[in-house]
Amino acid sequence: MTGSSPQAPVLVLNAGSSSLKYQVVVPESAEVLAGGTVERIGEDGSGVADHAAAVRTVTDQLDAAGVDLARTGLRAVGHRVVHGGPDFSDPVLLDDAVVADIRDLVPLAPLHNPGALAGIEAARDAFADVAQVAVFDTAFFASLPAAAATYAIPKEVSEEHRLRRYGFHGTSHRYVSRAVADLVGRPLESFTQVVLHLGNGCSASAVDGGVAVDTSMGLTPLQGLVMGTRSGDVDPAVFTFLHQQAGMSVADIDTMLNKRSGLKGLAGANDFREVLARADDGDADARLALDVYVHRLRHYVGAYTAVLGGLDVLTFTAGVGENSPVLRAAVVANLGRLGIAVDPARNEARSREARVISPDGSPVTVTVVPTNEELEIARQAAALLERHGG
Ligand code: ADP
Repeated sequence: MTGSSPQAPVLVLNAGSSSLKYQVVVPESAEVLAGGTVERIGEDGSGVADHAAAVRTVTDQLDAAGVDLARTGLRAVGHRVVHGGPDFSDPVLLDDAVVADIRDLVPLAPLHNPGALAGIEAARDAFADVAQVAVFDTAFFASLPAAAATYAIPKEVSEEHRLRRYGFHGTSHRYVSRAVADLVGRPLESFTQVVLHLGNGCSASAVDGGVAVDTSMGLTPLQGLVMGTRSGDVDPAVFTFLHQQAGMSVADIDTMLNKRSGLKGLAGANDFREVLARADDGDADARLALDVYVHRLRHYVGAYTAVLGGLDVLTFTAGVGENSPVLRAAVVANLGRLGIAVDPARNEARSREARVISPDGSPVTVTVVPTNEELEIARQAAALLERHGG
């Protein structure tokens, strides 16, 4: 170890197949010392041949930014790993055996885990003396009751192929649900919440006493809400129909549902701001896209209110949730009989802070809480090391 003090930072890495996002953050103070993204890894002419080269680019950029990891004492490298499969319900220290276990999960997350593995291997080489921790996007949802996690398909098929509802964005849902408790000044254990994470990917979670009891994403991040380019819920028979009746290949259908659907498929743009602007200009496709997006959200808010047996706090987070008063107002419109409403002035006030936007005395408290997945990964990595006496 490089003489790490309690205030030493964690390097958080979020590696995709062709990009590497990084942030150097101090878990206790949330101070961000540096951050950035290395893009186009492995692409012709990018000058970043592979993930090892990308990690070298990160250290070069940190040098250039005057962030001396040797001097500050790097406490850990925290890796975001999308899929933790059935076994990883907590952050874990990376060693060869754990890396092999994550590799074993690639069939469950062929789009996501290979990039994370490449990042892990490059970082283990580059920071050989530093503890490396994997934090899984699925972990927060390991607590889902069997009734919520189980698909109603033959048991032996699920067991053989490890099919269940895993859920994703768990790092965000965990961070936000805890920040909500601080904001509303109630013990986490004492109330129920629904968190709507609305970014490019979108997911909803139902949280009872701090424990996740339902979530909208499933085996993969395709299920649930309407997203930038993903369909969310469709009749599973759409797949069969397009294959048998329209002659599309399985790969084409998969790409269509993941990359050419959602807002993009309906309105021609995946960026929520752009869809809003087009709808304002009277574009009927954009209007319908927003209507479908909002309808799906209301559907889940209602469903999770029932799953929880009553709702105490509804929270909006991520790019759309944090920044679009129009969307927030549309989701809660006409939900007064469920006790859900926003105060127009509070909803429209611009702020980067966590805040309550429902009227005083509302049965359900509606909040906006900025997410911070990097900080959550850094905190979980630091907490794990502390438990290991590091
Ligand atoms: P990611 O999932 O990539 O982390 P973000 O959480 O940054 O994405 O969310 C990106 C989405 O947030 C985009 O659809 C973008 O249009 C939307 N967004 C950002 N700012 C605003 C805004 N002021 N109003 C409406 N939507 C916004």
